[in-house]
Amino acid sequence: MFDGLGGAGIEADVALHGGRVHAVGRALKVTGALEIDARGIAVAPGFVDIHSHADGSMFADPLMESVIRQGVTTAIVGQDGGSNAPRAKGAEGDDSDQATLGAWFDRVDQLRPSANVASMIGLGSVRGAVVGADDRPATAGEIIQMRAIVAQAFVDGACGASTGLEYTPGAFASRDELIAITTPAGPRRLPYSTHMRNEDDQLLESIDEAIAIARGAGCPLEIAHLKAQGPRNWPKLAAVYERLAAAQRSGMTVWFDVYPYVAYQTGLSNLFPLWSKDGGTTAFLGRLADPALRTRIQTDTLAKAELIGGWGNVQISSVSNADDKRFEGLRLDAVAKALGADGFDTALGLLVRNRGSVGMIGFAMSEENVVSELAHPLAAICSDGGAVAIAGPARRGSPHPRGLGTFPRVLGHYVRERKALPLADAIAKMTSVPASRVGLRDRGRLSVGSAGDVCVFDPATISDRATFADPFQYAVGVKAVFVNGVPTLLDRTQGARAGRALRVR
Ligand SMILES: [Zn+2]
Repeated sequence: MFDGLGGAGIEADVALHGGRVHAVGRALKVTGALEIDARGIAVAPGFVDIHSHADGSMFADPLMESVIRQGVTTAIVGQDGGSNAPRAKGAEGDDSDQATLGAWFDRVDQLRPSANVASMIGLGSVRGAVVGADDRPATAGEIIQMRAIVAQAFVDGACGASTGLEYTPGAFASRDELIAITTPAGPRRLPYSTHMRNEDDQLLESIDEAIAIARGAGCPLEIAHLKAQGPRNWPKLAAVYERLAAAQRSGMTVWFDVYPYVAYQTGLSNLFPLWSKDGGTTAFLGRLADPALRTRIQTDTLAKAELIGGWGNVQISSVSNADDKRFEGLRLDAVAKALGADGFDTALGLLVRNRGSVGMIGFAMSEENVVSELAHPLAAICSDGGAVAIAGPARRGSPHPRGLGTFPRVLGHYVRERKALPLADAIAKMTSVPASRVGLRDRGRLSVGSAGDVCVFDPATISDRATFADPFQYAVGVKAVFVNGVPTLLDRTQGARAGRALRVR
């Protein structure tokens, strides 16, 4: 039994009752309605995915199969500046301009997903609702309005504030604006979690900005999915650690999350310059069709693609246009070859035919850095992935395998095979560390009174199966999962939906 706090495994019984941990100890004298013999394998707190995109599909498929099968019992969503409330200004079918995170939590409770769900307030969504899609500074009045929305989100139970500063419209926010609207996080000691403005040539400047924003807002800092993209930036990781350590020495609380893969996933439009996306999708598509802008857009886009090694390191993960479905899972240079076009024209054509929305995987990071990040004392493990199923509505495109494999991959590949970090340390980075960072005080640990979220797995066999070429394969080695005391996986998933919205107070 691992308590989740980093202690070595001990032999102990764990008793659940009423949705909580009732007792922990050697040879407990209690009998249960259901008893699991976990001798020789690991019993740990259910894993807490501190940066999850499970909100993308959970209403279509509340079973959250890939999440449960990894042993994850809590998904922290609302990441990268995008939360499910508030809605963008003038959004299509917009009947709920005023929708709050509190109302969304109520919908989650009605849904009863298989895993628990906590959410950050997405500062990009807030800007979208108040300022819209344009690249302009917010007015003083708009900043007051945005801060009020953020403050209300914390009253409703948000567990942090997130940004995605490479994404529109969040990217149009200045440092001062972000400080001003993040301040409600400060007194609650909840994090400013940021997908930074840049993760390649301006990585260090972006770290400095992130530190400045959290310091200005007076709240802890979480660097989302820490990475250095492009071989020429890989050596910058040491300087990143130095900056984070300096921030810590100055009294700040800082950490980062990381997923165990050398490729990221984002939108193909992310390779295109920010200025081309000012004003939203229609304006972006208009610029792509404008011959006068073509050279500038092409120059910037090619530079970004070359930084990660060219179009051969870009894999298409999802499209909506039926004719392009055959390209899902292919590298962009292969798509270009099939179409008899060059890489840039191929990328541009895909974006035009798919109304600006094309998913991509970019092979841009170094294995050595991934190992270093996982082992680092400031790390928490995240998937950055969605809730996926191998059949049904949550099977879409050719996604990054992280949504199916992250936690077993860390425990199997990195702990057991590569010995990159000790087992108890990895478990802590998946349980008490993330839970405590986002204010979930009774999760991520196995102690009397804590939530009945449990993952039973075999450290000798736990492994990921999903790959970039063949992502729709569930992980193996997770033997049992309990969510709020309810058996949700017992060798097989049980169809249980015992998760709830976790409001942080
Ligand atoms: Zn991100």
